[in-house]
Amino acid sequence: MQSDNAIRSVVIVGGGTAGWMTAAALANAIRTGCSITLIESDEIGTVGVGEATIPPIRTFNDVLGIAENDFLKATQGSFKLGIQFNNWGALDHSYFHPFGTYGRNFDFLPLHQYWLAARAKGAAPELDELCMAWAAASRGKFAPPLQDPRSVLSTYDYAYHFDAGLYARFLRGYSEQRDVVRIEGKIGGVELDGETGRVAHVTLEDGRQVAGDLFVDCSGFRGLLIEGALETGYQDWRHWLPSDSAMAVPCEKAGEFTPYTRSTARAAGWQWRIPLQHRTGNGYVYCSQFISDDEAAATLMANLDGKPLAEPRKLSFVTGRRNLFWNRNVVAIGLSGGFMEPLESTSIHLIQAGIAKLIALFPDRNFDPLVTDEYNRIAISEFERIRDFIILHYKLTSRTDSALWRYCGAMDVPDTVTWKIEHFRKHGRLVQRDADLFGPPSWLAVHIGQGNMPQGTDPLLPLRGTDHGDYLLKLQGALVRAAQGLPQHDAYIAQHCAAVAIS
Ligand code: FAD
Repeated sequence: MQSDNAIRSVVIVGGGTAGWMTAAALANAIRTGCSITLIESDEIGTVGVGEATIPPIRTFNDVLGIAENDFLKATQGSFKLGIQFNNWGALDHSYFHPFGTYGRNFDFLPLHQYWLAARAKGAAPELDELCMAWAAASRGKFAPPLQDPRSVLSTYDYAYHFDAGLYARFLRGYSEQRDVVRIEGKIGGVELDGETGRVAHVTLEDGRQVAGDLFVDCSGFRGLLIEGALETGYQDWRHWLPSDSAMAVPCEKAGEFTPYTRSTARAAGWQWRIPLQHRTGNGYVYCSQFISDDEAAATLMANLDGKPLAEPRKLSFVTGRRNLFWNRNVVAIGLSGGFMEPLESTSIHLIQAGIAKLIALFPDRNFDPLVTDEYNRIAISEFERIRDFIILHYKLTSRTDSALWRYCGAMDVPDTVTWKIEHFRKHGRLVQRDADLFGPPSWLAVHIGQGNMPQGTDPLLPLRGTDHGDYLLKLQGALVRAAQGLPQHDAYIAQHCAAVAIS
């Protein structure tokens, strides 16, 4: 039974990754009694980068009933087992942030406590050698994990690299089949209701008006509704995350077809490398205070595996978030809500998280503050906890060879980050907050990978009565053997999900 106050029309402003993900998910959730309209402008276009993801994207596709192989064929996709960080903690040093765990749970103290003790005796493998994701990734191997918890092949997780433009196109087809109406046109005005202050309708440049009960602002950086019309305000985080620009360029596929993203720290930022089936995506994220655009472009072009397929394209951004993600009858999803620098590939995840919350807290036309406050409370914590994790990468550098890294090593960080650094430094403890997206293995990877070595272990460790030193060596051998038995990444793709030609 529908109440008189039910939402009868949803208008999505914008057709980038955020707009089409929102349209597809709402079309799947809303079956009757409410229209869904998406407005986008080919003239304005989309950001068009954003190709690496984290494992929860698989749940998004599953909920929509999208089969993995169909999705990968349509988006030139590949598999991602984690991120390799080069030159972050120190020059000529690498570590891997894996999806999944180190070893597996075998005691109520975590494995890394035994690893720290073994390391102090000089008898430990590198930490990376104790996770299945790296055992496979470093050998260019991929297959989906097993479900059997007794197997080391159940201890890793995975996500995808894909062409975000093709994903939006794929989701457009999905949405239109489920009655989402797409309007092509450029919005020139946003009108508010004089009484409630809510958005009443948007007006296209050709004069058409589109009214709605609920508006989802997916208009990208400009935040046409959330900022342009409602002046919600923005928190700028550049004092902690100073990068404000990126040069992006695709190149021909060459070099290793890695089942992982690579992030290489450079003098004024870092460079990504994301291998897709038909090309490799590359970009240099940098702080314009420390390098000119021309120099950033030259550095990027000098560090490609293959022939560039375009001129480098500049993007500018301010890392931070809106004061509110949901204001009156407008929910900001995607870049309109905030910008998280892409170091841990979390922006598409934040889109997904925004959509999941919107469906879980779907409003009626009262727009009860109980609902909107709850949405904002969760969204703000999710954003801030990811921010903390990214800050950790910058703060824990021992590099002093350039102005950016000297700034980052010396900068003040939020208390929520200091608290984590100090707990780890003292006893190797990985303390967590409620909304942390990244779990203990992810934080462990960055602490150790960037040289935040604990001064001591958990005080309980010596009271456990065993050091499990042999177990670590056996585990390392088991992971290598398991990885050797997996197919090569490219062979797995050729067999299961080779891309279909793009029309
Ligand atoms: P956009 O792509 O900008 O889309 C905005 C839409 O609004 C467009 O359709 C546009 O036409 C429409 N629009 C705007 N104004 C109007 C108007 N007046 N009238 C009509 N329509 C209008 N994310 C990841 O998850 N992984 C990554 O690896 C990653 N890398 C990134 C690297 C960089 C350098 C950057 C900048 C971002 C990266 N992201 C990444 C983020 C990712 O690109 C975005 O989250 C994603 O593209 C979503 O963008 P969007 O849909 O919010 O905005």
